[in-house]
Amino acid sequence: MAGVGIPSVDGLIEKLKRLPGVGEKGARRFAFFILGQPKDWVEDLSRAIREARWSVRPCSVCGGLAEGDLCPICSDPARDREVICVVESQEDCVAMERHRIFNGRYHVLGGRYSPLDGEDIPSEALASLRDRVERGGVQEVILALAPSVEGELTALAVKEALDDLPVKVSRLSSGLPVGGSIGFADSATLKLALEGRRGM
Ligand SMILES: [Zn+2]
Repeated sequence: MAGVGIPSVDGLIEKLKRLPGVGEKGARRFAFFILGQPKDWVEDLSRAIREARWSVRPCSVCGGLAEGDLCPICSDPARDREVICVVESQEDCVAMERHRIFNGRYHVLGGRYSPLDGEDIPSEALASLRDRVERGGVQEVILALAPSVEGELTALAVKEALDDLPVKVSRLSSGLPVGGSIGFADSATLKLALEGRRGM
């Protein structure tokens, strides 16, 4: 058992260990870094964490990051309402936006279908996507899912959920880095995959 023998520091290390990609060693480094900072900075950091966590919630339409009821994309009248890009996570949505290659709207699934890992797409996410399409005006649903077996299964599950609705469903073309999420792709690759999307 690691730990430094000072309860408050050990408690901090335990908390930091939960961060993605941070193991015991990384958590200890962060903890010592924090201990070496001015108290003001530590106060600012904890305030920033609290503010972000408390004020952010999923957009009531697309499930993306929002501070009020709607995310900035859903409340932007300039965004194309006819095209919905389906992504696995809020992070993937941010990744797509960073490249500025898409002017439609999004739908965040908040999970993927992976029977082997016992994971499934939250049923509310599929229901609300169906709802958006049923309300009309949506011409195309583009599935921007990971180029992996799980991404493939997730795409099929979404396609199936929309099967009886009069909407075109397409997928990003191949060429994306295999295994990673779409967040790993560079702008040029993602743009090509979006332009070369194919119907399902
Ligand atoms: Zn939204």
